[in-house]
Amino acid sequence: MAILDEPIKEVRVLKNYIDGEWVESKGEIVDVVNPATMKTISKVPISTKEEIDTAVQAAQEAYHDWRRTTPLARSRLLFNLKALLEENFEKASRIQTQEHGKCIDESRGESRRGIENVEVACGIPTLMQGYISEDVARGIDEWCMPTPLGVFGVIGPFNFPWMIPLWSIPYAVATGNTVVLKPSSEVPNSQTFLCELAEEAGFPPGVWNMVHGGRTVVSGMLDHPDIQGITFVGSTPVGRDVIYKRCGETGKRVIAQCGAKNFMTIMPDCDVENTVSGMMTSFFGNAGQRCLAAANAVIVGEDDAFYEDFVARVVDKVKNIKIGYGLDESVQMGPLRDEAKKQNVLKYIDIGLEEGAELVLDGRDFSVQGGLPENCFVGPTIFKNVRPDSRVGSEEIFGPVMSIMRAKDLDEAIEITNANPFGNGHSIFTQNGANARHFQYNVVSGNVGINIGITAAMAFFPFGGLKDSFFGTLHTQGKDAIRFFTDTKVVIQRWF
Ligand code: NAD
Repeated sequence: MAILDEPIKEVRVLKNYIDGEWVESKGEIVDVVNPATMKTISKVPISTKEEIDTAVQAAQEAYHDWRRTTPLARSRLLFNLKALLEENFEKASRIQTQEHGKCIDESRGESRRGIENVEVACGIPTLMQGYISEDVARGIDEWCMPTPLGVFGVIGPFNFPWMIPLWSIPYAVATGNTVVLKPSSEVPNSQTFLCELAEEAGFPPGVWNMVHGGRTVVSGMLDHPDIQGITFVGSTPVGRDVIYKRCGETGKRVIAQCGAKNFMTIMPDCDVENTVSGMMTSFFGNAGQRCLAAANAVIVGEDDAFYEDFVARVVDKVKNIKIGYGLDESVQMGPLRDEAKKQNVLKYIDIGLEEGAELVLDGRDFSVQGGLPENCFVGPTIFKNVRPDSRVGSEEIFGPVMSIMRAKDLDEAIEITNANPFGNGHSIFTQNGANARHFQYNVVSGNVGINIGITAAMAFFPFGGLKDSFFGTLHTQGKDAIRFFTDTKVVIQRWF
């Protein structure tokens, strides 16, 4: 077992990045613990209302010059950043693993997906063009052009500490806005490193700010009159009841990407081997802590032999997943982010048993490579004969738990899927095009996979979501992000 070099070597108190300066916070300081080793790797401040106000003020002042900086000049800074991100690709990936616990290859994937958003935003001189009509009336021309709005707040979750803020920030700054970012206080090191690289890339003071913390910082953003809009990624109760609600009350634009319970429909005509492989990464990658992780497998058909054989194959493959420290290249599943998240998964295993589901792989019985403390680890868990309306079959668990259920035909599978309150990333595995089309047409989901287990949109497509998985209108990434971060100002012109 060879563990890759850990990039965070000494415990330091992280600072906020405000107006181009690294500033000590006056807030309470809490430990950031590596969930695989249980060692404290850094300390993060829970910043105060005054600190978020200072950052917003700096961003507001920087906006004046930044919006006058040409899109070409802004994109050159993004090109500088892209080069630095490539140079520091491995370091950034290892920081993610060290603070979050995911396997190094999952972190490398996360780094790549983050960089792709910077690459797309580099095209801002053309992406931000408007359109014009000559002679809308005799001698009158009319055009519309996207213009920036001011300061935006970006609030991140714990599960993708590097990539998720990059769904927003490159587009926000490319379009001429300034940002204040609040990373998840559970994983603040990745964004601290990203800010260091943004500083090195040459973004002027005040354009890209970061304030560590929790609810106080979020409330400060939501209530601040100079913040024009918020992008939030996190759980549904916070996204809907705190962020979306307050943005409505204060008149801010909002993107709130929220929780999920994703269903995978498995047709009897699927390519079984590839389907089982796709299920492994979708259900258990990132230890199930993905908003696009499949949680429920709906096996279609009344053939008991197919059902039993399929379940046996899945269990057979999953029970050999190697669990351990993500910096060991051979490990396939890391820990959950913290002890509370493990306790939550254990709670759901108990609930599943109480509800009468059949536990065919028990995640409480596992072994971790290398004698690590087991505080945050839990093994892959599989329930079969789960009722779709049971708690284990309908609520977001956000851990490595697969619930297997049955449907007599495709329409019933779609009905079961659509009855769930979430609509983030549902998929079908089939070799039949008509079934695939019927599924993608009728399933209510922001992202749909056809023989794809993780329905993650590329950076040049919007990251969708429906029902309780998304609150807002436009999305992060791609052209939607350009529209979200700009107003389409219309000018009508006549000369006498
Ligand atoms: P969370 O809602 O607990 O926290 C998200 C952010 O909100 C954090 O920065 C946190 O500090 C802040 N926050 C938490 N409670 C708050 C409160 N009461 N008031 C104000 N701010 C608060 O989410 P999490 O546990 O960090 O992330 C996991 C959740 O995110 C899951 O539900 C997952 O499905 C979801 N998620 C969704 C997507 C998507 O694109 N739909 C992507 C990733 C994660």
